[in-house]
Amino acid sequence: MKRTAQKIRKINCPYCGIQLAYKGAQRIQLGRWGLLLEHWDNWLSGSLNVQLYECPKCGKIEMFRTR
Ligand SMILES: [Zn+2]
Repeated sequence: MKRTAQKIRKINCPYCGIQLAYKGAQRIQLGRWGLLLEHWDNWLSGSLNVQLYECPKCGKIEMFRTR
């Protein structure tokens, strides 16, 4: 079973130096991200649960896979 309780990380944007805003847990359909993820071929097919962080200034997105 997957648990959604994850601690929120404090991450700074590498471009702006300000803290990324936590956007919550998201489920990504791998099909939509195929071009981005094609080299991660050891990943399971289907969807992927991630935590998204976004820079409010430049829109840089950082994501972490949740298990
Ligand atoms: Zn930024």
